[in-house]
Amino acid sequence: MNCAVDFSAAQLHEIYGANCFSDSEMRARLPKSVYKEVKEVQEGAKPLTLAVAEVVASAMKDWAIDKGATHYTHWFQPLTGSTAEKHDSFISPLPDGKVMMEFSGKELIKGEPDASSFPSGGLRATFEARGYTAWDTTSPAFVREDESGVTLCIPTAFVSYNGEALDKKVPLLRSMDALNAQALRVLKTLGVDAGKVTPTIGPEQEYFLIQRELYDKRSDLMLSGRTVFGTMPAKGQEMDDHYFGNIKEKAAAFMSELNYELWKLGISAKTQHNEVAPNQFELAPIFDSANVATDRNQLVMASMEKIAARHGMVALLHEKPFAGVNGSGKHNNWSMSTDTGLNLLEPGASPEDNANFLLFLVAVIKAVDVYADLLRATASNSGNDHRLGANEAPPAIISIFLGEQLESILESLSEGKPVQSATGETLEIGMTSLPDLPKDLTDRNRTSPFAFTGNKFEFRMVPSSASIAGPNTALNTAVAEILSDFADRLEKASDIKAEIAAIVKETYKAHKRVIFNGNGYSDEWVEEAEKRGLPNIKSTIEAIPVYEGSPSVELFGKHGVFSKEELESRVEIYLEKYSMQINVEAKIMVEMAEKQIYAAAARYGKALSETILKAKEAVASFNTGVYEKTMMKLSENVNGLMETVEELKALIAKAGDEEDVKKAASLFRNEVFAKMGEVREYGDALEEIIPKDEWPFPTYEDLLFRL
Ligand code: ADP
Ligand code: MG
Repeated sequence: MNCAVDFSAAQLHEIYGANCFSDSEMRARLPKSVYKEVKEVQEGAKPLTLAVAEVVASAMKDWAIDKGATHYTHWFQPLTGSTAEKHDSFISPLPDGKVMMEFSGKELIKGEPDASSFPSGGLRATFEARGYTAWDTTSPAFVREDESGVTLCIPTAFVSYNGEALDKKVPLLRSMDALNAQALRVLKTLGVDAGKVTPTIGPEQEYFLIQRELYDKRSDLMLSGRTVFGTMPAKGQEMDDHYFGNIKEKAAAFMSELNYELWKLGISAKTQHNEVAPNQFELAPIFDSANVATDRNQLVMASMEKIAARHGMVALLHEKPFAGVNGSGKHNNWSMSTDTGLNLLEPGASPEDNANFLLFLVAVIKAVDVYADLLRATASNSGNDHRLGANEAPPAIISIFLGEQLESILESLSEGKPVQSATGETLEIGMTSLPDLPKDLTDRNRTSPFAFTGNKFEFRMVPSSASIAGPNTALNTAVAEILSDFADRLEKASDIKAEIAAIVKETYKAHKRVIFNGNGYSDEWVEEAEKRGLPNIKSTIEAIPVYEGSPSVELFGKHGVFSKEELESRVEIYLEKYSMQINVEAKIMVEMAEKQIYAAAARYGKALSETILKAKEAVASFNTGVYEKTMMKLSENVNGLMETVEELKALIAKAGDEEDVKKAASLFRNEVFAKMGEVREYGDALEEIIPKDEWPFPTYEDLLFRL
């Protein structure tokens, strides 16, 4: 399918959510009493019984079979960061040679994938390879249609035999429970009526589109997701209108089909636009609960890859596919919402609402300051190491943008200086109203890693290719911890309003060092942040061990989100993953240098020397100086390339031999990755010397200015 989807024929209200076993689908298909019970299970008020599961399984199966499904799968999120599944068919043979379509409650509730093929970081001893997937009732099942047929996908959690989390979903769900419990305690003291508090997430996804044909000629892109050689020619930035038009059309056709597929899944792809770099785009959905948003972001990424292929393109989700070109991230919009529809980070209109807003606002400020290094860790992977602090993405230092007005209000309040309220008298928390805050703060500061945008925070450091589960698990738990302290104080207070005011002022004063409204890309900020004592963690290998440091162990342990063992397993898995990625990139680099660049350089060298000889033969006095100079440059760089490649090979072998996970990761970072930079300089210099026709793989110009 290469044309845009015809939305006029496909009535939007009919296709929207058609492939999602949504709440309304459940209500329509389940007996009233069962539906009610499922809702109670979803809300955590009741455990799931097999009897209820049987009825739901049967309804789910009928719905999926109506859609053409033949198979079902427990769809889960192992620690690799992507999703995994094991397919089973509904078919159950009968003695008379016929078949029946079956799907039991037991099959819905629990699955048993071959857990030994997924990373466990030592949580599951090899003799006990069993792991279980368990139905997550809070995220809707869906059917996926593709060339392999139609499959019912059931979002599931993945745990070991002993109940340890082997995936990203279980800790996220636990963190949502923790936030709910502590936020409700606070709301109760404030007299706000609510039965549940849910963290809400709207993840904006950035990506590149490139031509499949060109991609297939670059083993670095194919095997590691990023280019290990290549430079952006200065003239490349001035794009010709002719190309532009073509790109727009092909990208638009892709987006149109992507929207169609996502809408069918009930995913509200809302905005899409061109990003900073050529061929770079962004998709923003409407926000969901943290759990559903996380599942759906995985589906968005998978759909992008699948649909791009149908259009003869590839969607690159890597954080930094091209050196010197803006990379990709994920803007994780985060807030908290009650089941009564109240956004806890919305300033509200009345003095009381304002006071509650300020209380939750300073809770987030404190959480981000106290757990800055943990948040930084959740945003780290080998791809993001190229971005954070590299003047295009937020710096590696965590700070909060509040906007000048809000900052100055909090600053004055905390210093005991008068602030004007909405009605002109002096502002008193809980007594008089805040002045109107500008609503369009969103784009005021693009250099902040954690920005308040009027009624939510936007965590902008999150890597584009990664699951958003990790950052949100940490954020939910960190905020839960601060709210638990606030609740302790408020529950004992005799004058709630006075206590809120005191907490807001004290907390702001103690944590305002994390507030920064200025330019996060500037060198002055790096210096200033150091003076303020804010951590500046530069790489993945420094960031990941934060997970097992005692503040993290205490935080996650107290709120039942991760045990110490679960945290240690993550450190091991994430560092191993880091090493594996650098290992792959380095090996591809060696291969491209030896098999492609060297060969092209040798051919060009030969052609040049023949030219020189022939020219001299024809005219003895022919000035071959230019050719000779090129020959010299060529030989210098080829020699440099091959020498550094030999060194790189030795370093890869050394790092590969290291058995200690931490030491290996540090060798991959400090030796292998560092050497790759040297190899690249020679390779990129050769790209400039060797004629384009002779260059062995597509250049940045080809990749970024065609589609
Ligand atoms: P912009 O950032 O362009 O101003 P919006 O503020 O409307 O656009 O939304 C950006 C993203 O933030 C969207 O994915 C949106 O759904 C999400 N978002 C909006 N409100 C909330 C909220 N209360 N909690 C979480 N995400 C939200
Ligand atoms: Mg935004």
